[in-house]
Amino acid sequence: MFDIYGGPVFGMARQQFLQAADILEIPTDQRDRLLYPKRAIAVTCPIHRDDGSTVVYEGYRVQHHLSLGPAKGGVRFSPHVDIGEVAALSLWMSWKCALMNLPYGGAKGGVRVDPYSLSPKELEALSRRFMQELIPFVGPHVDVMAPDIGTNEQVMAWFMDTYSNDAGQTVTEIVTGKPVSCGGTVGRREATGRGVTHTIVRAAEEINLNLAQSTAVIQGFGNVGSVAANELHALGVKILAISDHTAAYHDPKGLNIPEIIDYVSKHGVLKGYSSECLTDPNAILTIKCDVLVPAAVERVITEEIANKIECRILAEAANGPTTLEADAVFAKRPEVFIIPDILCNSGGVTVSYFEWVQDLQQFFWEEEEIISRMKKIMDKGFYDTVKSAKELKVSNRMAATCAGLRRVNAAKQARGLFP
Ligand code: NAD
Repeated sequence: MFDIYGGPVFGMARQQFLQAADILEIPTDQRDRLLYPKRAIAVTCPIHRDDGSTVVYEGYRVQHHLSLGPAKGGVRFSPHVDIGEVAALSLWMSWKCALMNLPYGGAKGGVRVDPYSLSPKELEALSRRFMQELIPFVGPHVDVMAPDIGTNEQVMAWFMDTYSNDAGQTVTEIVTGKPVSCGGTVGRREATGRGVTHTIVRAAEEINLNLAQSTAVIQGFGNVGSVAANELHALGVKILAISDHTAAYHDPKGLNIPEIIDYVSKHGVLKGYSSECLTDPNAILTIKCDVLVPAAVERVITEEIANKIECRILAEAANGPTTLEADAVFAKRPEVFIIPDILCNSGGVTVSYFEWVQDLQQFFWEEEEIISRMKKIMDKGFYDTVKSAKELKVSNRMAATCAGLRRVNAAKQARGLFP
């Protein structure tokens, strides 16, 4: 059924869904309705390149469900994107929003392109064309996009401007993660990494780990990874190793994170920062540390790596970093406390929700209020997950997925099936 959602990432999301549906004893005839996306849109995005040639990129938007409110989720620009991956990410968004009690269904979008290969002018043309193609299918109460891998505040500003020009009025609430200068909220850019760090603080309390004397390794040094690195560094955590798609660095004495952030703000990537502490990017996930933070792409923690990992907390900042086979290994390694992705990186969508609410009301909050409300919502998600994992005798991932799925299912059952 629904062969279009092929590939290993959707296979993984589907299997996790089935495991949770078994735990919740959801009748088999109700499962496809909960699993398969409501809508999937594929678009072609032609643009002029700077050399005068025309090139066409393929893009997708998958809206998993709209049973609790608008669909919500990021858009990634990545050469590896396919519709199965985007659909899987839309499912995870659904369970995440429901776990956090946000009034959204899950969505995700993607354009198959290497954004680093485009000039700023080409990136703007592609961003505008993608939004233009999706205008009939999105809206502030239908589907609200946000940044993800390869997109940022500037891309969101172009999305918002394109939608607003079509509407004939400024519609700031059409996307979140915009610059503060055009309807964004303070604290959104930092929200995901900040939330990741907050869940690490809570996990450390659970396992009696003194963070101020601990060590961490972070894969991915973009929006999420760099902010998490900075926040952990500020808490006194020694960051032993970091990597991005261009370089990896390891220093047993601890890396100078503020200096590296400054370097990346000027050069865009880690490459060229240092020749002394260069290391093998494939080796960093297995460096012995207290806190391991995959903050790049999905399916990097394989069965082999799960067997070798030497950390006490695995904080899944990225979406879907751990394969099903690796999860089976972790089931036999309870000494590793896993903060599952839908909990760990939920600070981003939580503050996106605040941005949407503020835009709808045209009434803006202070940063302290944003941070304290985000932590309150995430704390509830964290403690509910840990409690229900113990009660149900399941992993933190299953407990969190079940909580999200239970809420989506309850809404669908209460609303009934139309017509
Ligand atoms: P980004 O584009 O800002 O950064 C991605 C980083 O990963 C870059 O440093 C890139 O070089 C690096 N990377 C890519 N492939 C890599 C590889 N094979 N090995 C090492 N590094 C690699 O993206 P982001 O917004 O920071 O997103 C990172 C992860 O967090 C993604 O899984 C995304 O879905 C998830 N996430 C992001 C947000 C958000 O608000 N941006 C919210 C929730 C979850």
